[in-house]
Amino acid sequence: QTEKNESKPLKPSVVSRKPAVYVHVDRDATIQAARLKLPILAEEQQIMETIAENQIVIIAGETGSGKTTQVPQFLYEAGYAQNKLIGITEPRRVAAISMSKRVAEEMNLSEREVSYLIRFEGNVTEDTKIKFMTDGVLLKEIESDFLLNRYSVVILDEAHERSVYTDILIGLLSRIVPLRHKKGNPLKLIVMSATLRVEDFTGNAKLFKIPPPVLKVEARQYPVTIHFQKHTVEDYVKEAYRKTVKIHSKLPEGGVLIFVTGQQEVNYLVRKLRKAFPYKESLNSRKTEPTQSKATTTAEDKDDDEFDMKRAIKNVKRSKKKLASQVILPKINLDSYKLPSEDTDADLLENDDCRLEESDLENDDDDLTMETEQRTKQPLWVLPLYSLLSSEKQRRVFAPPPEGCRLCVVSTNVAETSLTIPNIKYVVDSGRQKTRLYDKVTGVSAFVVTFTSKASADQRAGRAGRVSAGHCYRLYSSAVFNDEFEPFAVPDIQKKPVDDLMLQMKCMGIDKVINFPFPSPPDFTQLEVAEKRLKMLGALEDCKTKESGGQVISKVTPLGHAISAFPVSPRFGKMLALSHQQNLLPYTVCMVAALSVQEVLLEVSLNDENDANRSQSSKWSSKRRTWAGSGNYQLLGDPMVLLRAVGAAEFAGSQGKLEQFCEENGLRMKAISEIRKLRVQLTNEINLNIPDVNLSVDPKMEPPTDLQAKFLRQILLSGMGDQVARKIPDDELKDKEDKRKFKHAYQCSEMEDPVLAHSASVLKKKQPDWVVYQEIYQLENGDTKKMFMRGITAIEPEWLLTYAPKLCNIKAVKEDPSPRYNAKDGKVYCYVEASFGRSGWELPLTEI
Ligand code: ADP
Ligand code: MG
Repeated sequence: QTEKNESKPLKPSVVSRKPAVYVHVDRDATIQAARLKLPILAEEQQIMETIAENQIVIIAGETGSGKTTQVPQFLYEAGYAQNKLIGITEPRRVAAISMSKRVAEEMNLSEREVSYLIRFEGNVTEDTKIKFMTDGVLLKEIESDFLLNRYSVVILDEAHERSVYTDILIGLLSRIVPLRHKKGNPLKLIVMSATLRVEDFTGNAKLFKIPPPVLKVEARQYPVTIHFQKHTVEDYVKEAYRKTVKIHSKLPEGGVLIFVTGQQEVNYLVRKLRKAFPYKESLNSRKTEPTQSKATTTAEDKDDDEFDMKRAIKNVKRSKKKLASQVILPKINLDSYKLPSEDTDADLLENDDCRLEESDLENDDDDLTMETEQRTKQPLWVLPLYSLLSSEKQRRVFAPPPEGCRLCVVSTNVAETSLTIPNIKYVVDSGRQKTRLYDKVTGVSAFVVTFTSKASADQRAGRAGRVSAGHCYRLYSSAVFNDEFEPFAVPDIQKKPVDDLMLQMKCMGIDKVINFPFPSPPDFTQLEVAEKRLKMLGALEDCKTKESGGQVISKVTPLGHAISAFPVSPRFGKMLALSHQQNLLPYTVCMVAALSVQEVLLEVSLNDENDANRSQSSKWSSKRRTWAGSGNYQLLGDPMVLLRAVGAAEFAGSQGKLEQFCEENGLRMKAISEIRKLRVQLTNEINLNIPDVNLSVDPKMEPPTDLQAKFLRQILLSGMGDQVARKIPDDELKDKEDKRKFKHAYQCSEMEDPVLAHSASVLKKKQPDWVVYQEIYQLENGDTKKMFMRGITAIEPEWLLTYAPKLCNIKAVKEDPSPRYNAKDGKVYCYVEASFGRSGWELPLTEI
């Protein structure tokens, strides 16, 4: 083979390094011609030599330079797929699917050979040579095959996105690669990034002792003129529409790419633009592109991926118009609400939020009158692009538009770096993205729209300069860009609470998470807090092992493994794990979903001076008290109110009365739809992941029985044992001053200062002696600071030994002296004398 190579007229230095193997690939001529235009093709030799000589290589290159589609092909041709797999990870599912299809097509290979694997889906076979997968999938594989023995190369693509899984993979592979080398079974690691900012990978001695070589791929980039808006507009969706109308009507040909934040916004814009510049098949010759005629009908497609709730709300709007003031709300039938079973598609599993947009509910026609005078008659070929779109529909953006049409793609940040759309000349950038923000205290997450980073904004602008000079229209001012945009996005790992990360890594057998070589390590104290909390939950346990040399380290318990199976924070995971009995799971799912969404119940601030507001608020509060029911129901407290509110809202929604219902009862409608989405997502994941559970079999969810309500209180306690408060007994209040200050006050187990029940809590009047709370927050009013507990549930102190054992100090276990017990079955009954928490509250004697 070497002889064959030497016969070629190559420079000697190159010849000697040419790989011994060359696997032939039979490509179509058009594909080959397109490949040759890609900047990365010019670098093939250098890239392959560097890979041959190094265990770890970083490739940094502009989006669209050909990294994702070409590097796997280079490796295949060099024989890396002959005995083992070439693996490529992507942070996004979209990219894994679409890139595997593209590479198969370019190489004239079947999908049996170039395949993909994402969570719950894939087409990998035993013939697979090149395997695209999400980073989460590879991380899971490491759990069962630590050295990744099936792979000859692992490519971590889109490393600049700094997804948590990719970051962990880099850390793990930095150790796996040398191990494989030692065993004489080398593994190559290639890290690919769309930005040149790779110091976190190269300049981190803990990660790579010798910094790996960085190969830069220069892409042809034409100048892009940036146009800032004078003022930053709030309604960027409408503004994007206006801008696009202008571009299409006034500017020379060239595709338009619009960046907005989510699927809903994308669909809304697509609908409006199609309406404004309709593409009529009959105007054009049908023959232009055979595949297009099929696609044309989809130009009129209804949004098949739309959220049902929205339709219900639209109906409400319509009926409201018709009936004006005579709508009468039917009596809410709390017993007959149902768990939604209809939208069970994977739709809700990804980050693309389907939240309701105000603008979606508006009458479409009003802004169609805008700017009609100067509007062109030329049709616009409008296509949506977001991660949950079927891959078939996604691929339409790569085909040229029908003749006489201008291409316009409306996208989420998927098109920022993962997919490159050809022939874009104009970019309209909202400057926003949807991110998941985590509450540091509760670990609760919420989707919010924020400004992107400067780096992202520049990436987006860059999409306009790939074929010729382009223009980028930013829907925000240069002042906002300079002052409010962060230079780079913070790596995910530093934004998220690390509880689940810690648990997952421990599940993988990484005992000393603190020593793990993260590219950018999470906060040290955060890690410590997480470990402590996981121990409290019983997910981790200290032990001494031989491997640890007698050192104490924490390991995952069987309960911890069960908790980690649920896609929620470990607190909630524990609640779900304990609900696998008494048919409690549907309730816990609902409660976890409701507790994960902020501000479900509207509250008027305690300081509100406005009488009307106050009376509205007290009307809502009294309603909630009736919802809370009596007896055990009531003791379940605020979470029970949420449970019932969700059920009743579902029912009202099914009657098309959701909006009135929310208004009447002081619920935030968006929160209700978010809860629904989370419930569907959790239900799906549990059905798929937990054996023997099928939550959709019995979609009807009656209000819980008394017994179930009691279990639910215990389940809440099991997840929040560190958030227990005890009412300060009257005899502990020494003087008048104390009594004035601390009457009705509680003391938390983890904090000195007294706290009060929030006035909106249904347990505010009832004042149970022991409670768990979801959160504490501080309110400042002039000089006085007060702390309030929110989301309160009453508990029995006897439960603490069972449900929060890690926080109990057992003082003595005594045999029960009473013969009444001893006589029974000849067994000896014992009771436990224990105290709880740091303050050492005495617990009642508990029988065991
Ligand atoms: P990078 O990973 O460096 O961003 P890619 O390998 O993704 O670059 O893309 C290289 C080129 O391949 C781009 O010009 C892109 O438009 C093109 N391309 C990718 N997927 C497809 C597809 N499915 N159909 C047509 N062209 C595609
Ligand atoms: Mg790529």
